[in-house]
Amino acid sequence: MQLLNQQLLQTQSFINNQWVGPANRATFDVINPADQRVITSIADCGAVETEQAVKAASAAFKSWSKKTAKERSAVMKKWFNLVSDNMDDLAMIMTTEQGKPLAEAKGEIIYGASFIEWFAEEARRIYGDVIPTPLNDRRIIATKQPIGVVAAITPWNFPVSMITRKISPAIAAGCTVVIKPAAQTPLSALALAYLSKEAGFPDGVINIITSSRAAEVGKVMTEHPLVQKFSFTGSTKVGKMLMQQCASTVKKVSLELGGNAPLIVFDDANIDLAIKGTLASKYRNAGQTCVCANRIYVQENIYDSFMERYKKAVTALNVGEGTKPNVEIGPLIDENAIEKINRLMNDALERGATITAGGNKHEAGKLFYQPSIIEGCNSEMAVSREEIFGPVSAIYKFRTDEEAIQMANNTEYGLAAYFFTQNIGRAIRVAEALDYGIVGVNEGVVSHTEAPFGGMKESGIGREGSKYGIEEYVEVKYVCIGGL
Ligand code: NAP
Repeated sequence: MQLLNQQLLQTQSFINNQWVGPANRATFDVINPADQRVITSIADCGAVETEQAVKAASAAFKSWSKKTAKERSAVMKKWFNLVSDNMDDLAMIMTTEQGKPLAEAKGEIIYGASFIEWFAEEARRIYGDVIPTPLNDRRIIATKQPIGVVAAITPWNFPVSMITRKISPAIAAGCTVVIKPAAQTPLSALALAYLSKEAGFPDGVINIITSSRAAEVGKVMTEHPLVQKFSFTGSTKVGKMLMQQCASTVKKVSLELGGNAPLIVFDDANIDLAIKGTLASKYRNAGQTCVCANRIYVQENIYDSFMERYKKAVTALNVGEGTKPNVEIGPLIDENAIEKINRLMNDALERGATITAGGNKHEAGKLFYQPSIIEGCNSEMAVSREEIFGPVSAIYKFRTDEEAIQMANNTEYGLAAYFFTQNIGRAIRVAEALDYGIVGVNEGVVSHTEAPFGGMKESGIGREGSKYGIEEYVEVKYVCIGGL
């Protein structure tokens, strides 16, 4: 991989501001999903190095937490500037290891960097309260303190922003962190680590463990007594297990888990907006996002006209290697992703659905899939319960608002939901009725640093970004001053 700054391509774990590998020099390969070539081999660390990182973070916490918010903010701003200055290289690294088109990768670097900038600003606004006293001889003060060492695990679909969304509020609050990125996308994480060292973070504030043995690393992170907070983004299945592991030491837990987003097109929708929003929600990152429209409900009386235009837009999407110009859909992450789509498609077809666009692998390569549509879907199909995580629109027809809301809420997930209508009364009624942490009205892409991101029900616990994000990394301490 040719970069302007070749130093960004690191292959060791990052502990205490040093590049570290395991004693036995074990490595694992990072693969380019576009052509299945090995990009490079990475240090395969385990429990020993994770423990070493936790101890380094614990030692660093003593002085980092004592710095003023302004001092912490200043280092974070330097890091933000370095990430922004190296955007082209960071995007190239991301596209090469993850597959998403370069333009999307750049979008993610901007989004990821925005968390560093936002929380550098928020660091100086972690306010407490002076509370009116019930007794005249005492005063009541509530302050917020950094919780301590934070351990975090992140997925492959957003290799930069899922990391900065956790690191930034944590270090802004005065915590120190140990992060394990996904085994498929460790290079973006290590490039961020390299830039954090350049920015001047003290030893041990940010630590990155690369590993192919997630369970082994996860066990140390969730059970180590020096870790006070565990934050996870990934599947609901793994999140539940890690939450259970955290119970042994009663860690504060944040979970950003899977979704099963409904997207409803009402008969009074602006159809141009609805098509643009549905395409953006569904096909961004080749359909591999937790907030992707997973179930698309179209009202009966506009069904045919909407679908005719939607089909044209979907089949016009440009599939290919993410580094090529004008590509809109890159490869899927691995063969399991292709197999999952095939299984969901076959199940839907057996239960009466019809493929009306795509439906096969794409000629661009082994891991590419055609932008596809299946119509005639219903709640009996696996596609209505599981995340598709691929470029496939599953379409359902509905008659009334009540029916749409009931179907939309009929899932254990509650991350994101979308709908399109021009009627203000309907917009407010439906937004209030949807059991989701994030609701997009006439908009298919809703992630912003300034907004609280997170799910209800089995989609998670806690919020990331926004003024709420930092609350996950502080403890409220009540001080009672008596004897006045
Ligand atoms: P995953 O299998 O749960 O993996 C996520 C992370 O957990 C990876 O770093 C993985 O490591 C690690 N992991 C896997 N098994 C583990 C274990 N037993 N102990 C400790 N760590 C373990 O999820 P995924 O399939 O990669 O990611 C996609 C999922 O993430 C989807 O469900 C998606 O909806 C969700 N997601 C949610 C959000 C959100 O904000 N709510 C955002 C993005 C993605 P390895 O890479 O080594 O396997």
